[in-house]
Amino acid sequence: MSKAVVSQLYDSEVFRMACKQFDSAADAINLPDNIRDRTKYPRRCLAVSIPVKRDDGSITIFEGYRVQHNLSTGPAKGGIRFHEHVTLGEVAALSMWMSWKCSLVGLPYGGAKGGVIVNPRELSLRELEHLSRRYMQEMIHFLGPDIDVAAPDVGTNEQIMAWMMDTYSNHVGYLVPAVVTGKPLSVGGSEGRREATGAGVAYLIKHYLIDMKLPIEQATVAIQGFGNVGSEAALALSQYGAKIIAISDYTGGIYNPKGIDLKKALAYLSYAKVLKDFDGGEAISNEALLELPCTVLVPAALERVITEINAPKLKCKLLAEAANGPTTNAADKIIEQRGDIEIIPDVLCNSGGVIVSYFEWLQNRQSYYWSREEVLSKLTGILDKAKASVEYQKRKFKFSRRLAALTLGIARVAEAKESRGLFP
Ligand code: GLU
Repeated sequence: MSKAVVSQLYDSEVFRMACKQFDSAADAINLPDNIRDRTKYPRRCLAVSIPVKRDDGSITIFEGYRVQHNLSTGPAKGGIRFHEHVTLGEVAALSMWMSWKCSLVGLPYGGAKGGVIVNPRELSLRELEHLSRRYMQEMIHFLGPDIDVAAPDVGTNEQIMAWMMDTYSNHVGYLVPAVVTGKPLSVGGSEGRREATGAGVAYLIKHYLIDMKLPIEQATVAIQGFGNVGSEAALALSQYGAKIIAISDYTGGIYNPKGIDLKKALAYLSYAKVLKDFDGGEAISNEALLELPCTVLVPAALERVITEINAPKLKCKLLAEAANGPTTNAADKIIEQRGDIEIIPDVLCNSGGVIVSYFEWLQNRQSYYWSREEVLSKLTGILDKAKASVEYQKRKFKFSRRLAALTLGIARVAEAKESRGLFP
């Protein structure tokens, strides 16, 4: 039996979900007791309060977190989320998934995640800059190219990464691009990073459809979430010949069985800021989008959108988890029992983002920059290898694909901890 003596610090539905996934994987590989809890629980976290002077002269305090789940295999790595529903428990769960993801695809990183409870759309650009810089300032001794490397996530972008990198660099007195990835090209960003997550999702979908003997030219795709990941996945998939029949954001979705004009949707989004009232199809709710008949369903927004309520009603053949943790454990079981839907689990499906983040960090440290072709061919090489190892593990142990991916990721972290031993 495991004997963790831990508080309720991270307790939340999403953290329990990540822990349950871990427990199933640890059971499946008979992970020894003396390594289980050390591998499972986050190593450390920092909570900070961030005062921001508002445009009207008042001051608002925001709360921010960084959870470093594991540093055994390298610096911690993971994005920073700006969202009004961020909780410490959510950030902790996301940090666990970063650990398994980095480990699964063989990156020399641990896992981390950050978050601030804020709706970034309610801040002016100046307020957003102030918030981003102050977050980094408060984290200054907790982050660094050899400690913990941040990146974008839901609600953050290249500009925010540039401000954070600038704040860190001003603190140490020289340019340190490798403290943050997902930066603009002008300050050490990598070719291909912006589209990496979505492009990786699309690449894996293409290859899984080949395995399933479903021609991509006849595939229909519904995408929940049309932010960086969802929109880049949509563009890449339509280039492969698939038809995108539905997209959505937090204001609702658009459905067009003839195929959505993505260029028009992106142009509309660039001035309207939201998809609401886009006239490229009929309006549809986010919930209804998930239940559309389609070849591929891509949840590309937040956690826990596929639940025991809608899992029995899904009408896709392939569920590609571009978001982190979109499928609850109960929904996962239902889908497994149904047996008619293939899943590309999140830790594999969206790993293209952190893979190219790794390339960006390498390029920063070497001050030697690669071409887009080089980045993309190295990315697909790593994805091919990760996919093959997941499929091998799945076949060998008769695991679900999620269990195969998680056991590979978790076993490597546990092995590293075992080899390093316990510092007294
Ligand atoms: N936020 C992304 C993720 O969840 C990217 C993390 C990174 O590039 O470090 O994988």
